[in-house]
This record gives sequence, C-alpha cells and structure tokens, in this order.
Amino acid sequence: MVNSENYYEVIAAELDRYAKVPDEVLLEIVTRDGACMWLWANEDGPEWESEEITDREAAARLCAGCPVLPVCLELELRTAGEDTVGVWGGLSQEDRREVFRVWRARREGGGSS
Ligand code: SF4
Repeated sequence: MVNSENYYEVIAAELDRYAKVPDEVLLEIVTRDGACMWLWANEDGPEWESEEITDREAAARLCAGCPVLPVCLELELRTAGEDTVGVWGGLSQEDRREVFRVWRARREGGGSS
C-alpha cells in the first residue's frame, strides 16, 4: 500500500514528460480533448451536480476516462499553482496542492529522472 506522500510523488513524476511542452500546446490539447470541455460545450453537465459529494468524488467522476487528464493537471499546476481551486486533472484541490508541492520541488531540482 502506498502512503499519501508516495502517491503525490508518483503523480508528480508522471508529469515530468510534459516539462518542456509549452503552455499554449497544453491548453490546446485540454480544450480540444478534455472530457469536461465536451460536456460543458454541449450543455450537458453531470446530473450529480446537485448531490452532496466531496471534491475528491467529483474529480473521480468528472475526470474518469478523460484522455488528457495528466495534461490538464500539468497545465493547472503551472497556471494556478498552490492557488488551484475546484476539480481539475482528476484531483480535488487539496490533493492538487499536495501534488503541486512535490511537482514544484521536482521542477526546481531539474526533476526528470
Ligand atoms: S482531467 Fe477532468 S477537468 Fe481536466 S479536462 Fe479532463 S475532465 Fe476536464
């Protein structure tokens, strides 16, 4: 069983492959292929919007099967950083802030091992 620190480390490490991809390319990919972009564009938001669910549950449901999940997460960490809010990249804001901490340390350390 992985502890939460390892969990965040694994997620941050998986993003290393995007380190050299420009922001605008990430944005284009997410806007074009993100599962939620398609939902909102078709005014077909999820029916569970009014349910009492946690951010973590919302992230799991909204982002399940999204083909660009890691790209979305990389973009959100770059653009919002520790101020990230809501559901992006398959994670709640609490989880994303923890990933951000590890992700930033990896990038500042030259990160892609
Ligand atoms: S990972 Fe989630 S928030 Fe990001 S584009 Fe996909 S469905 Fe949308």
